[in-house]
Amino acid sequence: MRENKERIYLSSPHMSGLEQQYINEAFESNWIAPLGPNVDHFEAELAKYVGSQGAVALSSGTAAIHLALKLLDVKENDIVFCSSLTFSASANPILYEKASPVFIDSEPESWNMSPKALERAFEDAIKEGKLPKAVVVVNLYGQSADMDPILKICNHYKVPVIEDAAESLGASYKQKASGTLGRFGIYSFNGNKIITTSGGGMLVSDDLEALEKARFWATQSRDPARHYQHSEIGYNYRLSNVLAGIGRAQLQVLEDRVKARRAVFERYYEAFSPIEGIEFMPEAPFGKHNRWLTTLTMDEKKCGIHIHNVIDTLSADNIEARPVWKPMHLQPLFKNYKYFAHEEKKSVSDQLFETGICLPSGSNLTLEDQTRVIEKLHSLLVNK
Ligand SMILES: *Cc1c(COP(=O)(O)O)cnc(C)c1O
Repeated sequence: MRENKERIYLSSPHMSGLEQQYINEAFESNWIAPLGPNVDHFEAELAKYVGSQGAVALSSGTAAIHLALKLLDVKENDIVFCSSLTFSASANPILYEKASPVFIDSEPESWNMSPKALERAFEDAIKEGKLPKAVVVVNLYGQSADMDPILKICNHYKVPVIEDAAESLGASYKQKASGTLGRFGIYSFNGNKIITTSGGGMLVSDDLEALEKARFWATQSRDPARHYQHSEIGYNYRLSNVLAGIGRAQLQVLEDRVKARRAVFERYYEAFSPIEGIEFMPEAPFGKHNRWLTTLTMDEKKCGIHIHNVIDTLSADNIEARPVWKPMHLQPLFKNYKYFAHEEKKSVSDQLFETGICLPSGSNLTLEDQTRVIEKLHSLLVNK
């Protein structure tokens, strides 16, 4: 019986049906060669949606972070501050440039970068005589970080911010689109994100000159010449015209996707918020969460079960659930870099990793699927 139940994924691609038209157009006009009209339109449409002056469509969100760091002149031996509670793609590009990350803890209110920890990291940097070149602020699970205090601190030290909004397209901070508050913002269209091109990313900014430079680097840094001439290192980072077509269609249904994910959250919230020991990731008053993934913490003492047991049991029932991101300061790859906790002796992200779980949250989750997850999880919490 069990084995026959269809797998319920954490977050699977959700096509709208509109994509095929754009793909067909690309095929009929033979715009398969990487760039083409879908790329230009997708950039313009996304920039308009988020309210930025411009956008560059790229092969991934990771590529967008890499180019943003290069635009801020991050080089060997430089320091870059970065949220610790995130996916490794937020921090890997810092290593591509042989710079050193310094990781910043989360605050409990939003699970995102703690302004208190950030301030202490800056004080330490001043003491060491070396400020960071950039700060990568992650908007986790679809919620903006508290950008006003973060920007206030960064502006004070004159250090620019890159917003890693890979998970927060469609979310907002004080009426502004998440991803548009820093010098640069990046989005991801990987298969598990709120909208997808199967793979892809976008770099946004009001600095059009910088975006033009990113376009140049992303297309192999070809100098203007008849022959192939190169004065700078180049990358093959552009999004293909076919995939940009998928993105144009997905962007049209983004608002529906946010609504659907928020509805999924609401159902989980209704089912589990009354249970002692369960706390959902809060929606901070400063913005709108897109609820990309519904995440909650379980206090083992009160719930009588550890998240690892919950994940294993759900998995045996063909339901995918996962712990929240393992913080970067706990990763073997990054173990030699500095970390600043929310309070001197209290790391919020360690605690969230110990107790936090992500539940299936796709916008294409059926009511039956969700009922299956809720009933299974409920039985674990009640029959412990
Ligand atoms: C997915 C993700 C990325 C990377 O995006 P890709 O398009 O997969 O390269 C970066 N940061 C965060 C927080 C992400 O969730």
